[in-house]
Amino acid sequence: MNDKPGNKKKIPIFAYYIILLGIVLIISYTMLPKLMEPDYKEISFSEFVQKVENDEAQQVEVNSKQYTMKPKDFETSNVYYVTGNINNEFHESTALLSLLDEKGIKYDSPIVSSNIWLEILIAYVLPTVIMVVLFVVLMRSMNKRMGGGVMSFGKNTSKIYAEKSTGKTFADVAGQDEAKQNLVEIIDFLNNPGKYTAIGAKLPKGALLVGPPGTGKTLLAKAVAGEAKVPFFSLSGSEFVEMFVGVGASRVRDLFRQAVENAPCIVFIDEIDAIGKSRDNGLGSNDEREQTLNQLLAEMDGFDSSKGVVILAATNRPEVLDKALLRPGRFDRRIIVDLPDQKGRVDILKVHARNVLMEPDVDFEVVARATPGASGADLENIINEAALRAVRAGKVRVSQQELDEAIEVIIAGEEKKNRVMSNEEKKIVAYHETGHALVTSLLTHTEPVHKITIIPRTSGTLGYVMHVAKKEKVLLTKKELLEEIIILTGGRASEEIEFDSVTTGASNDIERATEMARNIITTYGMSDTFGFVNWQKKNSMYLVDTKTMNCSDATFAKIDAETHAIIADCYQKALALLKDHKATLDAIAAVLYEKENLTGDEFRKLFSELEPDIVLASADEGV
Ligand code: ADP
Ligand code: MG
Ligand code: ZN
Repeated sequence: MNDKPGNKKKIPIFAYYIILLGIVLIISYTMLPKLMEPDYKEISFSEFVQKVENDEAQQVEVNSKQYTMKPKDFETSNVYYVTGNINNEFHESTALLSLLDEKGIKYDSPIVSSNIWLEILIAYVLPTVIMVVLFVVLMRSMNKRMGGGVMSFGKNTSKIYAEKSTGKTFADVAGQDEAKQNLVEIIDFLNNPGKYTAIGAKLPKGALLVGPPGTGKTLLAKAVAGEAKVPFFSLSGSEFVEMFVGVGASRVRDLFRQAVENAPCIVFIDEIDAIGKSRDNGLGSNDEREQTLNQLLAEMDGFDSSKGVVILAATNRPEVLDKALLRPGRFDRRIIVDLPDQKGRVDILKVHARNVLMEPDVDFEVVARATPGASGADLENIINEAALRAVRAGKVRVSQQELDEAIEVIIAGEEKKNRVMSNEEKKIVAYHETGHALVTSLLTHTEPVHKITIIPRTSGTLGYVMHVAKKEKVLLTKKELLEEIIILTGGRASEEIEFDSVTTGASNDIERATEMARNIITTYGMSDTFGFVNWQKKNSMYLVDTKTMNCSDATFAKIDAETHAIIADCYQKALALLKDHKATLDAIAAVLYEKENLTGDEFRKLFSELEPDIVLASADEGV
């Protein structure tokens, strides 16, 4: 339906409404009065004759049943006079006919016949016209709503976003140096295709940007177009798959036709997994998607890459893509766009802070250290959230305090201050979190505490301890992994020591500890019993949650037993540590219960007063 040439596109939508309104007005003023059903007034035969004699008749219709008279004042009265024609042989009837002859009144043709064309017009033609006009108007406005691209080249572009220049450059993409390096060649190719074709080199037709959501894949694609100063055509995979079969395929055709017309340029297919899903997974085959994918493959094979069209695509699920897409000559290059490391995070924060007024002493290092695993989009969000908070607080610049709050909100969810927690519950949470924090501090290898809070969050957490890594770790030792598990068990251990009973509050800790312990055995090969063997198959690179055990049932059972043993051992260690420092635990938990929030510095101050022998590393030294 979108394939009609859109040469009428320039007519604004309201023009159609005006035309429609005009038609309705014409109908109502010219035709409708005539349409109004006239009255048929029955009168006696003698009255009828009388009217003829009085010269009131304009025309008379005679048939075997009745006489119908159209009076001279019909236009104003809208009345026909009718009388029965009992028998033509009757003297009176014959007399009436001669009277009509005498008066020169026509009676040999039907008087209403003149309206027959009007009737056809009104009964058939008009409704059709109105339906067609309505349909066209609806289609137009629908297209408009769904499309709305930035600007359009050539014909039908209702769904293809084309930008003459994206306005993004590599300077807008922080970190991701490796990905950028891989893309530099593509930029060069777009600028000097001759250089490559002269030597006989075939350039890749397409590159696939692979990485978790929010890491800047779309941004990178735009930056490539911006750096090469070429137009950018983009379509999102989910837009291909429509309710009408065949639309996706025609859209692909359109996209490539336009791209070739505008070469050199970049064609970007976002979320390509929506169409590029493997065709042989058996589940819910989708004709429309297959057609679209086939069309895409055909187009990629068909076009001549020396023209200077480069196809970029992005996905966060490379593992589901159809093999055919990844074959040489199609998306044969894979560019990994991974989550930023600590330095990358600082750079991204700086990029997004460019247009935000900041206090000169804000420290992005601290933010970066507190946000391992955050994507570029998360960090952008943190900056923006901090700016909003500064406005709310009536400040003119964003300070570290707003940044810290923003991290919490993005990571843990908004504070839920009005949530009622009984004092008993609050006390339990205070002990739980202090348990985590104290174990963290007592274990020498772990990260300094940055903040402890027992204010419930909208995400459902009742409190948490925020750590700040001194340095991003790439390799973890077994000792560090075990310490992590001990910290996770610290909350529950603390509850047990103080209250002699445990609560449901530790379920997330348990989940994480279990996964870690299992990974120690099955993925990292750190277990003495099981050794250097992988027992767990990862099903995808980024969907961490789909893992299947890769071992016999007997081994599985042993692994379970050892997982249990590791956690039980860690739990005992946490218990022992906290029992040894019960006085400190009580004191800090009491302060936390009162204040609800403790910064890392406040915590360390309390700790060093209570435990003068133990020196704690602070968060901000030795980076
Ligand atoms: P993806 O397509 O990988 O899901 P996007 O490219 O849409 O992610 O990124 C979303 C936003 O996050 C971008 O508009 C950008 O503002 C920000 N962002 C992500 N990664 C980076 C980065 N490396 N440098 C700067 N900003 C980034
Ligand atoms: Mg994207
Ligand atoms: Zn906990």
